[in-house]
Amino acid sequence: IKPIHVIGGGLAGTEAAWQIAQAGIPVILYEMRPQRSSPAHHSEHLAELVCSNSFGAQSSDRASGLLHEELRRLGSIVIGKADEHSVPAGGALAVDRAIFSRNLTETLDQHPLIDLRREEVPAIPTEGISVLTTGPLTSPALAEDLHRFTGMEYMSFFDAASPIVVGESIDFDVAFLASRYDRGEAAYLNCPINREQYLHFRQELCQAEQAELKDFEQETAKFFEGCLPIEEMARRGEDTMRYGPLKPVGLFDARQGDFRDPENKAKRPYAVVQLRQEDRAGQLWNMVGFQTNLRWGEQKRVFQLIPGLENAEFVRMGVMHRNTFVNAPELLHATLQFKQRETLFAAGQLVGTEGYTAAAAGGWLAGTNAARVALGQAPIALPATTMMGALFEFISSASPKHFQPMPPNFGILPELPKRIRNKQERYGLYRDRALDDLFAWMHQLRVAA
Ligand code: FAD
Repeated sequence: IKPIHVIGGGLAGTEAAWQIAQAGIPVILYEMRPQRSSPAHHSEHLAELVCSNSFGAQSSDRASGLLHEELRRLGSIVIGKADEHSVPAGGALAVDRAIFSRNLTETLDQHPLIDLRREEVPAIPTEGISVLTTGPLTSPALAEDLHRFTGMEYMSFFDAASPIVVGESIDFDVAFLASRYDRGEAAYLNCPINREQYLHFRQELCQAEQAELKDFEQETAKFFEGCLPIEEMARRGEDTMRYGPLKPVGLFDARQGDFRDPENKAKRPYAVVQLRQEDRAGQLWNMVGFQTNLRWGEQKRVFQLIPGLENAEFVRMGVMHRNTFVNAPELLHATLQFKQRETLFAAGQLVGTEGYTAAAAGGWLAGTNAARVALGQAPIALPATTMMGALFEFISSASPKHFQPMPPNFGILPELPKRIRNKQERYGLYRDRALDDLFAWMHQLRVAA
């Protein structure tokens, strides 16, 4: 059997290559780093997490948690390694990013059927079976070729990364460890802000100098609402940040007593900046929701106004980047095959799914189907009642005119037979149906094989 080409060793490509190899088919995995890097990647490892170290909420009655669970049951290597290298994150699945990516790279490198080649692929292979997983920062040459191949315009907008702070440089007399509403282990560091400090901070944030956007970026700039730059949020209104990432609710410094005590409620801060643990050792902390396009010097000046961060040492400043994705509803089947060439597959951010876990899910499906086509079997799609099935059904059938990337969420699942008002109960039922249907589907697949 001829090898299958997987182009791009990110979250999706790593998963795709693994699934192909596990099906017994040789695979060549092309990754352009370290020869050529992207504006967001920092290492040479596969499946690098470019921003947050979190794969989202763990619990299976949350959309991301359900997707984790489905992937676990399907034998995903990415989620398997995420579980293995997780760090405490107050109910989220977060990993020690360096160990996670290094271990995935070693594991794939050691697979006898995976040939990892460190080179940029400038054009879509014209022969054989290929999987495109080059992500939101696809190299310009390949993006150009993809543009030619599809004959369609790309949409570009901005994703944004938050700064990372050295733990030792945070003032622990001010910052306190707590998870919102005491959920899970206390994995967040919280910097409380009073009203006066908040107003001053907001004013400085609004006036701070922005990094310059390139001409083409200015023309096409569209903010991704789930990942708004903090300065943009500050400009939208005095309280916008306080209703967003700086929400003070459910957080209380245990040193001040029990927050359920009505007397203590009055001591509630006006706003809270949260930092999430980045590494297992707790040396690095990511400023939650502080993705930004401010100049680096300005970020330092303004973010050091936050109580507890006066002497903060930043190991990475916030950045903003282009994001490239194809018009999936126009171009792809729910099996992640291109309609115009069914031996060509795509997955990850490039097809308009949003986030690390969704990229791994796409990699699983595209890799599995590429292997099936190589073996002369029909490609598969998952039940639409599963989070995976719903996601790929969505991207392949949404309105092409208004197509925007989609993260996993319960809104894309088919409705339950009965209307359930209670959200928690409803999500639990979605989860039960999804996992039951996945179980039955996997059983059928095994019987048919
Ligand atoms: P990637 O993980 O980016 O992998 C693509 C790979 O292809 C890269 O390794 C790249 O080097 C390689 N490549 C590109 N072109 C070529 C070529 N021609 N030849 C060979 N190799 C090539 N998602 C989240 O869930 N949480 C976040 O916090 C988050 N923050 C983000 C911040 C930024 C700045 C950006 C740009 C994206 C962010 N995302 C985040 C989205 C994130 O990119 C995706 O969730 C995830 O990385 C997508 O996986 P992927 O496999 O599609 O792409």
